[in-house]
Amino acid sequence: MHKQIEYTFVGDTELLRLVKSEWKGYCITSVADIEYWIKKTYQKPDTNSEITATFIIDLEYNLVIHDRHSEHVVCAAGENVLSAGEITFVLLKNKTYFISQITNQSTGYCPSPKSWDMVKCALEKIRIPFPDFFTTAFEFRICGSCGWINVIKDNYFVCINNECQNQLPPNEN
Ligand SMILES: [Zn+2]
Repeated sequence: MHKQIEYTFVGDTELLRLVKSEWKGYCITSVADIEYWIKKTYQKPDTNSEITATFIIDLEYNLVIHDRHSEHVVCAAGENVLSAGEITFVLLKNKTYFISQITNQSTGYCPSPKSWDMVKCALEKIRIPFPDFFTTAFEFRICGSCGWINVIKDNYFVCINNECQNQLPPNEN
């Protein structure tokens, strides 16, 4: 089994007020589940036949998705996750699906790019073609000094909080 790291919600605590069990995301274990979600939530593919959703991987290695404008912590019903980000499905004319894009973009959970193994585990259950890795991988660092959530760009490991500018660790612990 893969090395499992759980991520706890680290985002704005105001968002926790939106967490309700009935607003939890849809657990996806088959292509039929994706079709059900599309119908049930009135998703409309864009001009590229793509539908993007918010996703989390729950502690049972399941893909859980929600409308793309919903918060990861709401999708997860406040629980810890194994990964989180955005996922894009493409619906082909012959009613088959594949995943064109998937990222670990979640400032609510700040999952490592290494959480890909957990995502892969969940996607393999669905039997849907998917990319070899996150199509965009984000590196997050929570500043040890001021607590700001930093998204690392261009290998610049300095806290973006102007009043802090603490050095951030180049490697994840
Ligand atoms: Zn800082």
